[in-house]
Amino acid sequence: MRLYEFEGKELFKKFKIPVMEARVASTPDEVYKAVSEMNIPVVLKSQVLTGGRGKAGGIKFAEGANEARTVAEELLKLEIKGYPVEKILIEPKVAIKQEYYLGVTIDRAKYKLVIIASGDGGVDIEETAEKNPDKIVKKEVSINEDLYTFDALLLAKQMGIPQELAKEGAAIIVRLLTMFKKYDAKLAEINPLVLTADGQLIAADARVSLDDDATFRHPDLADLNVEHRHEEGEMTPREKQATEWGIPYLDLDGNIGMFPGGAGFGIMGNDFVHHFGGKPANFMDSGGGPSPERIAKMLVLLDENPNVKAIFGARFGGISRCDDFAKGVLIFLNEHGLSKPMVFRMTGNMWQEGVRIFEEAKKENPAMFEHIEFHGIETPIEEIAKRAVELAEEAGA
Ligand code: GDP
Ligand code: MN
Repeated sequence: MRLYEFEGKELFKKFKIPVMEARVASTPDEVYKAVSEMNIPVVLKSQVLTGGRGKAGGIKFAEGANEARTVAEELLKLEIKGYPVEKILIEPKVAIKQEYYLGVTIDRAKYKLVIIASGDGGVDIEETAEKNPDKIVKKEVSINEDLYTFDALLLAKQMGIPQELAKEGAAIIVRLLTMFKKYDAKLAEINPLVLTADGQLIAADARVSLDDDATFRHPDLADLNVEHRHEEGEMTPREKQATEWGIPYLDLDGNIGMFPGGAGFGIMGNDFVHHFGGKPANFMDSGGGPSPERIAKMLVLLDENPNVKAIFGARFGGISRCDDFAKGVLIFLNEHGLSKPMVFRMTGNMWQEGVRIFEEAKKENPAMFEHIEFHGIETPIEEIAKRAVELAEEAGA
């Protein structure tokens, strides 16, 4: 569950990580009223669950309430990476002397938490990692260990925090780590952590993601005004549609429609496609033993996605039967029709029956199968993935 900046900052406050006094508003009039009661100038920050708002024009300044109202009108019309701006966070503008980066995340390969820090804040940490890797320092911490004060002080020093603020910087590092653990976070990031002209350290941004499966352990999130499940509001239209149909689905930025069986096979298919130089347009899971109707709906999601150039299907029949899979595909072909090339393979439970259903349907209506290549166990999965990448390339060219 990703938190909005204003929610993340509520958590920061709870852990005494310094933030500016902030207000949240969702109409230009509310913004006007808030700014009338605040120290000016102010910064107006679009609240969307994505980064890079600054670059996208979602962070603006205003000298007074009138200007803030006008700026708010513009911001509330904005869509940042497809997400409409519905709320604005307003804070007194700070005079920035230096921007740092500070983050905590999980190193899944090492089963450790890792603190990432840099004197190069305010920019994408991914970009810094690529261009100036030596400007990033990392410190691994075991989940059951605390960070020693001297380690925190060393990190603050390595970030370039001035000596007279080293203690304060170290305290922020320790508090962010404490918050991360207490709230079962997956990511907690302050970018930028700001050194103000008058010598204070302030968290100017907050990016916090909590583990969805652990939110039941934190009923107090509601008292902090953190809304549960607000990701719903940030789903793409297709993800919403899939959710309504009960299909776990995620949009990705490639062009190969992934039509897998279960989630595990879906992930493997994703790897295969990447291996052969393609990019998946989605991730999807059919769930165990899907009905033919559900299979048909999965295909509707892919066929109606304009980014999808070719469809890669892989059905490994376990609890799920390949004949049901074949029936589902036929429902889709008859009721909806396929507008893109598709290649797929069936193995496992009832695969021969599945292939037989397709062969018969093809005999009856060859035109319907014009853009479909179906395979059974005789064709290795690699061949199917490779073919899907080819089909997408041909269609894209
Ligand atoms: P992001 O682009 O979504 O990461 O949004 P941020 O909250 O990090 O803001 C982007 C940039 O706007 C920051 O790196 C700062 O340079 C600038 N910014 C944000 N708040 C303030 C502020 O109060 N004063 C000044 N001078 N700049 C700010
Ligand atoms: Mn930021």
